[in-house]
Amino acid sequence: MAQLKYKRILLKLSGEALSGEKGYGIDPTVLEQYSLEIKRVIELGVQVAIVIGGGNIFRGIQGERSGMDRVQGDYMGMLATVINAMAIQSSLEQHGLYTRVMSAIKMEQVCEPYVRRRAVRHLEKGRVVIFGAGTGNPYFTTDTTASLRAIEVEADVVLKGTKVDGVYTADPFKDKTATRYTTISFQDVYEKKLNVMDLTAFTLCKENNLPIIVFDMNRANNLVKLVEGEDIGTLITG
Ligand code: UDP
Repeated sequence: MAQLKYKRILLKLSGEALSGEKGYGIDPTVLEQYSLEIKRVIELGVQVAIVIGGGNIFRGIQGERSGMDRVQGDYMGMLATVINAMAIQSSLEQHGLYTRVMSAIKMEQVCEPYVRRRAVRHLEKGRVVIFGAGTGNPYFTTDTTASLRAIEVEADVVLKGTKVDGVYTADPFKDKTATRYTTISFQDVYEKKLNVMDLTAFTLCKENNLPIIVFDMNRANNLVKLVEGEDIGTLITG
């Protein structure tokens, strides 16, 4: 069996990714595909924590644009992430995995409240822990949640699953000459203003020396390749 490079990972998935081709809601084929990827790494003995976004359902900024109070909209966005977390939980359980959703906003009938020590215990027992409701605070993002929770549970890396296979010198959809970085420092990402995560999320990783890998989550076996140390995506590190 291959040696594992990362034993405890924090996987960040955007809400939009869950909507697949439709662009809204939850696409069961995407859930199925992601669950199989996650199952493969669990079977290798990797501990998996997940932070899921809510952009496929609601974003606070959307509410604000239509005249809604920003904070109200942000709470709606946080609740949206819990819906996505429950959808992933359900799909993972159908594949025989043990899971827990832990929410930053208490909702006892639905899931556990987030308690760091309990989250770590679940991970040690091989349960997939899905962090819902973001940080529990308005004006933050689920990228920031991913950085924060990864630091709290002492994950080895944040794996940011996206539609592109890494960080490029320019937007690869607009600029054909754009090339992908295989590895880049936090400082260079910052200086070149490359769009990896929002600055709060990014700074948390930078200051705590937590590597980030941006990779294509839609390509089969990528998650396994990453935990086994293959050079895919873009590694951002000190
Ligand atoms: N949100 C928030 N606080 C948090 C995390 C999320 O207020 O700690 C809200 C915010 O309105 C955000 C929405 O939840 O727009 C959904 O999260 P995000 O936009 O990060 O989802 P993604 O873009 O990854 O789908």
